[in-house]
Amino acid sequence: MFNLVIFGPPGAGKGTQSEKIIDKYKLVHLSTGDMFRSHISNDTELGKRVKEILADGRLVPDSITIDMLEEEVKNNPEAEGFIFDGFPRTVPQAEALDAFLEGKGSKVDLVLQLDVDQNVIKERIAERQKVSGRADDDAVKLLKRIDEYFDKTIHVLPYYQEQGKVTTLNGVGKIDDIFEAICGAIDEKH
Ligand code: ADP
Repeated sequence: MFNLVIFGPPGAGKGTQSEKIIDKYKLVHLSTGDMFRSHISNDTELGKRVKEILADGRLVPDSITIDMLEEEVKNNPEAEGFIFDGFPRTVPQAEALDAFLEGKGSKVDLVLQLDVDQNVIKERIAERQKVSGRADDDAVKLLKRIDEYFDKTIHVLPYYQEQGKVTTLNGVGKIDDIFEAICGAIDEKH
């Protein structure tokens, strides 16, 4: 099993690169943002509980997020490994993931940090909103998401750095060039 955490601020390109990685390495892509959006569009109980939180750009409580993620891992018993995208976003989530994977005799093998300047993020998300129509992509909500990132999510990085698992790559440039750098980092540990 090979488990990868793809890490970076909103708009860093995690989703774009994850799509390319799953093709090449046959990993299962688990994006907690996509899962929440799917619950919301299917109007499930969970979707009803998180709808406003997402629209505001705030983080969903850890317990809800962790339970949902673990459920999805269990739904993929044949997987050769996972890309965790948008998860963990807090240190308690990171601890829960470690404990959960350990219970399966597995672990996080690599944390890929996509480094992107805040101004670039804002430009990218303004562009994305034109096509995505995502409620949380508007300028005010975006600032809230960036705040949440620098307030809570950034602390996940030292957690993994202490375990020697983080590789930082420049997330600005051509999509294929960034992908090539990502493949280099994965191949070192795969
Ligand atoms: P982004 O493009 O900003 O990285 P995502 O699609 O990953 O956004 O997530 C969208 C929203 O879903 C977040 O702003 C948050 O409300 C919620 N969310 C996603 N993942 C998590 C998580 N691990 N913990 C808490 N909330 C989450």
